[in-house]
Amino acid sequence: MPVTEKTLSAAGVKVVGAVRTFNGGVCAVDHLSLEIGPGEFVAILGPSGCGKSTLLRMIAGLDRPDQGVVQVEGDTSIGRVGYVFQDAHLLPWRNVLTNVALPLELAGVDHAERITRATAVLSEVGLGDFIHRYPAELSGGMRMRVSLARALVTSPVLLLMDEPFAALDEITRQKLDEMLRQLWAERDMTIVFVTHSIAEASFLAERAVVLTRRPARIVTDHAIDLPVDRPAVLRGESVFAREMRTLYAALEEGMRA
Ligand code: ADP
Ligand code: MG
Repeated sequence: MPVTEKTLSAAGVKVVGAVRTFNGGVCAVDHLSLEIGPGEFVAILGPSGCGKSTLLRMIAGLDRPDQGVVQVEGDTSIGRVGYVFQDAHLLPWRNVLTNVALPLELAGVDHAERITRATAVLSEVGLGDFIHRYPAELSGGMRMRVSLARALVTSPVLLLMDEPFAALDEITRQKLDEMLRQLWAERDMTIVFVTHSIAEASFLAERAVVLTRRPARIVTDHAIDLPVDRPAVLRGESVFAREMRTLYAALEEGMRA
């Protein structure tokens, strides 16, 4: 689906002058303003400990700003905003299928439809042959695919991802990046993806918002000038290196700020 048509139900995000200071006085986010349009794929890039997760948690409604506004513009009913963490957080006593079907179960969807929808999304993430396996029988990459399928099964209009692939080996991570990019292209869904990897941000996103070291402020808001269709070989091309250089320079500037 072309980017221009991806605005039917995808949600936007609006952050205006957000400040978050924790008890004890640590300021994690400092007067940050950011608008994300429906259907965008935005990477939030910044050094460890700068306030990325705090920002994402506020967008998810898991935390609140002390000052300013953080809001999701769109359908925020249960299941329409998905959240994926670095840890897959699967229930070990449930198999892959029933882990993925869990959000539908909680939403009161009947059994037959749960199975149909969970099976379909598992095949989309490449796990069609593993639906009866248990989490302990899967690799880290496969567990992350299950986690992603569980987030997608309710057809979210906004998917928030907090360094989801950071603990995986490089090849697995690249494969998941390629799959995620594809899933985004096929769905009417906005993605906000937190990472500290320049390569991952460049490959995945349409736009990279680079944050300073703590407290997080925006140092650069950069439109990534790469084709919508991003095959694995793009990583070896000079246009990709150019994007990486731009983001590297911005991160460096943010470290000095
Ligand atoms: P990042 O995700 O960029 O690594 P975080 O948003 O997790 O950074 O954290 C930013 C800063 O806020 C860190 O110094 C962290 O220790 C602090 N922090 C995060 N959450 C809390 C909390 N609940 N209470 C106190 N300090 C916190
Ligand atoms: Mg974090």
